[in-house]
Amino acid sequence: MSEFAATVIATYSRRMRLRLGDGREVDARIKGKKLRPVCGDHVRTTPIANEDDWLITAVDPRQNELARPNASGRKEVLAANVDLVVVVAAPAPKPDWFIVDRYLCAAEIMRADGLVVFNKIDLADGARDALQVYDDIGYDTVRTSAETGDNIEEFGKLLADRTAIIVGQSGVGKSSLINRLTSEAWQKTADISAKRGEGRHTTVNSAMIPLPGGGEVIDSPGVRDYAPMLQTIDDAIVGYKEIHRTGEGCRFANCKHLKEPGCAVKAAVEAAEIDARRYESYRRSIILMEQLTRDRY
Ligand code: GDP
Ligand code: ZN
Repeated sequence: MSEFAATVIATYSRRMRLRLGDGREVDARIKGKKLRPVCGDHVRTTPIANEDDWLITAVDPRQNELARPNASGRKEVLAANVDLVVVVAAPAPKPDWFIVDRYLCAAEIMRADGLVVFNKIDLADGARDALQVYDDIGYDTVRTSAETGDNIEEFGKLLADRTAIIVGQSGVGKSSLINRLTSEAWQKTADISAKRGEGRHTTVNSAMIPLPGGGEVIDSPGVRDYAPMLQTIDDAIVGYKEIHRTGEGCRFANCKHLKEPGCAVKAAVEAAEIDARRYESYRRSIILMEQLTRDRY
């Protein structure tokens, strides 16, 4: 039986929607119990004789995965092969920049790029400066209004040809931004953010939403509620890229940039070359991680 390469573009518990290499979309079941494909996965699939469904026979190795421990402590993968993490903040609800920093941290650890969006600029005075710190670190940033359409086109250009996920506090405008970016045709067929009855057979768990300007955004409730967790101190160091960069100049190779003498990071914070609030996020990330590690053992 001939095998085809496909991408998982939506998941409905154990059923999936696939996009084949030629652009055709088909529904598929999964062969056996061991395979656990998620949105964004590249898979192998074959047609099933006398059925509309196809069968997923293998999952290709992943470039990266967005994962979290589930209730029983096992790794649950939410999405795969993501190359951009879009972190949305807004003047309301009040921004929690520590959350933004933790999402960016997760992006670095996954080796995905980070993009910071400040939405609802129609509401904000002086909001243009809120992202300056991220500009300075080297992240792409964009100030949008899903309400007025301001800079939505610019936002779309930053997403072109990427596979992105969109994260951020509830109420910052993630759904509104996706609606602005996408065609209406899509929203009619698969509006996953609509409050459909949970657990219904047809409920989409996650979907990859194609953007008219190229690229796609993975949207899923799991990803939206995703709380990035650091496992080791190295995760925190890698996660804050300006700290990572500056840390090359520390006296000790294993400097944690907390209390060590000859710490280039502390010096840079004092000289205001590293933003003090970002450094505070870094410290808090380590404290959180150490608490969680203590609780676990
Ligand atoms: P989500 O929880 O991040 O998906 O946020 P929603 O997209 O559901 O938006 C939350 C609320 O903010 C809704 O009432 C939207 O109408 C509103 N909203 C979203 N974007 C904007 C914006 O750019 N400006 C203003 N004024 N309101 C917005
Ligand atoms: Zn140091």
